[in-house]
Parts: sequence; structure tokens; C-alpha cells
Amino acid sequence: MASSTGTLEKTTTICSGDGAVAADAAVETAATLKSPLLEEKKCDDGARGGVKRCCERQYELVGYDALPAFLKHNEFILDYYRSEWPIKQALLSAFAVHNETINVWTHLIGFFMFLAFTVCAATMVPMESGVSASMATSKTQANNTGSRMVVMTMGYGSNGAAVAVRALRNVSVESELIAVASLSAGSQVARWPFYAYLCGAMFCLLMSSACHLLACHSEHASYVLLRLDYAGITGLIVTSFYPLVYYTFLCDPFFRTLYLGFITLFGAAAVAVSLMPVFEAPELRWARAALFTCIGTSGLVPIVHKMLVFGARPEAGLTTGYEMAMGAFYLAGVVVYATRVPERWMPGKFDLAGHSHQLFHVLVMAGAYAHYLAGLVYLSWRDVEAC
Ligand SMILES: [Zn+2]
Repeated sequence: MASSTGTLEKTTTICSGDGAVAADAAVETAATLKSPLLEEKKCDDGARGGVKRCCERQYELVGYDALPAFLKHNEFILDYYRSEWPIKQALLSAFAVHNETINVWTHLIGFFMFLAFTVCAATMVPMESGVSASMATSKTQANNTGSRMVVMTMGYGSNGAAVAVRALRNVSVESELIAVASLSAGSQVARWPFYAYLCGAMFCLLMSSACHLLACHSEHASYVLLRLDYAGITGLIVTSFYPLVYYTFLCDPFFRTLYLGFITLFGAAAVAVSLMPVFEAPELRWARAALFTCIGTSGLVPIVHKMLVFGARPEAGLTTGYEMAMGAFYLAGVVVYATRVPERWMPGKFDLAGHSHQLFHVLVMAGAYAHYLAGLVYLSWRDVEAC
């Protein structure tokens, strides 16, 4: 195992029957940085002379060559692996430095971000008075100038209604009246597609973090957690369609049902395929990337449809912009994931920070956040203008 400078000493202390201690020192050329997690057990309560003897096992990071086959996913990351650690030590390693630390935290922080978004969406303080004042001011400006350009500023209601969004719009007097009446009545469009997306994102981010943290435990744990990770990715992609399709085709049940049914079936098929053991083979990295890319790009169909029907509306342009940004982030993430850049250029140099999977996580977070912003625009659009 070629790696950076220094020596890693792997020491195991064994408790013998008479309290003698044997040490096995395996010295390998390896890393300078050590992050041992210690597990201590009392194995002799000091029957003789009241001396306590303890078993002590030290968990050290190992190199790629020392890994069992089920942990060998990326030969360009040479070092700082945890191998077959107990669950407790694997959990505690969230606070230690190894080659999965940043992978765990990028998505764990993302999970808490989306949890905060969900809580905010459900509990935001009413701002109806602000809406009315803003609308009144805007209407006055419109009347004074004779223009029909209206600036709207809205806020969430206590029931999670319209969001803080500013939109510069051409609207008719009739639609303004409808909007004001709708807001006054406190009516709001269904929230479930937006919450489905937030839940899909949280599930994906949490499963990803758990997988990176605990898959080192055993082959069985790795198998189960990788399936949950793939299911999470599929869930994020599928639920990303829900706000787009539901709010765009709110008044067109046929296309709404068609697109929602199609993407849900597509996602279920992807989860079924990912349950096959062969799916996680390292050489099928491209197949995995292609499958998730296919599901994602099928979102182009409802987006193009949206622009054909609502292209003149600013909300359609704004949401499509966010969706394009999301697509670009996800696509960049898939390319980085599949090509394993930059570590393939300099194996061993990005073991702890900067390797492709960390970049992939950051790009997924950026894409998910762009789609969240699109969701807010959909809500504000359909709260003001339902069918
Ligand atoms: Zn990951």
C-alpha cells in the first residue's frame, strides 16, 4: 500500500487469563495521521490483589490493500479507511478524521437544512397584512402610472401559505382582484407535493450519511445501507417531480396524473433494479450513473410541456431556471461520481478532502436547494392563482 509519509502502528492488546498482556504490532508504511477509537472492557475484576486488568483494542485506519472486497470501491483513495469496525466505533467515528468524514457531514448538514425548511414551511408566521399593504401600494403605483406592471411581495401564512417572493408581473385588474380575494380568504393550494419533496430530500440525505458512516461495519450492513442509499437517491429524484408536475398541471388532471404515475413507476423500477446484488459492482458505476441520469432527464418532458403552455408567465420562466440549475448541478455531480476526478489524477492526494464523492455530495446539495427554491415559487404562484 503506497501512501503518504510516516508509519502507522496497528496495536492490539489482548487480555490473557492471568492478566498478562501480549502485544501484536504490525507496522505498515502508511499515514502520518492517526485517529484511533478505543474500546475498553473490564475482563478481570481484580480477583487477585484487587488489580483491574483491561482488554483494550485500538481501531486504526487502514490502507486500501488491507480492505475486504466489499469495502473496495475506489482504488484511487489509498488510505484512511475504517474496516469492519463495531457499530459503536463506527458511529463515534463521525467525530473522527477518516476518508468518509466529509461525506458523512456534507449530507448530514444537508439533512438538518431541509428539516429546518420543513419546519419553517409548516410554522411560518402570518404576513397577510404585509401582503395587503404591498399589494395596495403596488396597485396605487400602477394606477398612478397607468401601467399594469405590478410588484408583488408575499409572505407565508400561519398555515404555510404563500412565501416571501417578489415577482415583477404583468397582471390584469381582474387577476389582481382574484389574488387579493384568494389571500384574504386564506385559501391555499395543496401542500403535499412540496412536503413530499422535502421528505424525499431528507430521506436521501439521511440514508447517504448513514451509509457513509456505518457501511464499514460488515458486508451485510454495507449491502443493506447501499440499497437504502440508492433508494434515497431515487426518492429524491422522483419527489423532485412532484411539485413541478402537480403545480404546473394543477388544472389539468390528465397530464398531472400521467406524469406523476409515470415517474412514480419509473422510480419503483429503479429501486427494484438497485436491489439486485450485481448493481453495486464497482465496474457498474457507469450503469448506476446512467440509470439515475435517465430518470432525471425524463423530467425534461413536463418542463418543456410547462414552457409550451405557460411560457409567457414569469413563474414558469423562474421555476424552469431553477430546474435547469438543478439539472446542471446533478449532471456535474454524476460526471464527477462516474469519472472519479480528481483522485484518479493523483491517487492518494485526495483521500481525506477533495475527492470526487465529496464534490458529488456538494453538487447534490446545491441541486436540491435550487429545486427547493423552485418549489417556493410554485407555491406562491398557485396560492394566488388556482384553477
Ligand atoms: Zn454518497
